Amino acid sequence: MKPPQFDYRAPRTADEALDALADGGAKVLAGGQSLIPLLNMRLAAPSRLVDINGLAELDTVEVAGGGVRIGALARHTRVERDTGAAAAQPLIRQALRHVAHPVIRNRGTVVGSLAHADPAAEMPAVLAVLGGTVEAVSATGRRTIPAAEFFAGPLEPALRPDELAVSAFFPAAPRRTGTAFAETARRHGDYALAGVAAVVTLDDDLRVTAARAGYLSVGGTPLVLDLTEAAASAVRTGDWPAAAGYARARLDPGDDLHASADYRRHLAGVLTERALRAAAEEALSREG
Ligand code: FAD
Repeated sequence: MKPPQFDYRAPRTADEALDALADGGAKVLAGGQSLIPLLNMRLAAPSRLVDINGLAELDTVEVAGGGVRIGALARHTRVERDTGAAAAQPLIRQALRHVAHPVIRNRGTVVGSLAHADPAAEMPAVLAVLGGTVEAVSATGRRTIPAAEFFAGPLEPALRPDELAVSAFFPAAPRRTGTAFAETARRHGDYALAGVAAVVTLDDDLRVTAARAGYLSVGGTPLVLDLTEAAASAVRTGDWPAAAGYARARLDPGDDLHASADYRRHLAGVLTERALRAAAEEALSREG
């Protein structure tokens, strides 16, 4: 199918982009890996596309201020390969490896994935479990939106139509913290039937002091569970199944064409156990 008619703008400065977005009927075009299929299927009909691919100043990945800041034009592949970002927050690379296929990652952007707010996407769950933020600007100002508020509903980011998301901030992993990502998809690169991003912090005696899991494909928005209490007795060879059972009892996924609710819940429990164990192992192996 062909897209509906739209006006096309290719601004050269951020101010030009904000002017083009100001009347509210426009959509930002970043990598186009989600937006173009939506247009072709006529599931979106913006009056204007504001193509930000000429804004080279948004193609950034910086490790600073206690985390990783990813600019709106940084493609998945570039972020995945960034060794500084992977060292500061390993969960970013661990999750990006599961996003679609290499050709899509070469073009799609991390911030575009957040702005698309697909509940089956990996990066929203990562931002949510880490408690990250999205920086948005418009002609009238700038604001920082916490992940807990950003994902308002399926495909519904808390962005106004006149706002451009300029960057996302992923807090760095603290001392003795490990992360892991696990998902199940029918084929590698497909959207996951269920997925888990896990973060585990140990103390010097190898006791769990924090355990969190962020879920994708089990609800309309990324869901974050604090599993610290359930996992509190777990040390290196600890009782991760208890934490997974706690999570399973709190997840309420829906049925769809791809999997039943029961199957998704079961899968999420298995993946929770696997991801928590791997994150704890990584916490043990991280220096300092
Ligand atoms: P675009 O398609 O350009 O935009 C997506 C939406 O976000 C649009 O509404 C757009 O207006 C808005 N937007 C983009 N950037 C901004 C911004 N800076 N400010 C405000 N709004 C903005 N994704 C996954 O996470 N996991 C997968 O397994 C997966 N599999 C895929 C398989 C296929 C076959 C395809 C085609 C895509 C798949 N994707 C998957 C989606 C892909 O990762 C996209 O790149 C990503 O979701 C959106 O990034 P983008 O830069 O292409 O955004």
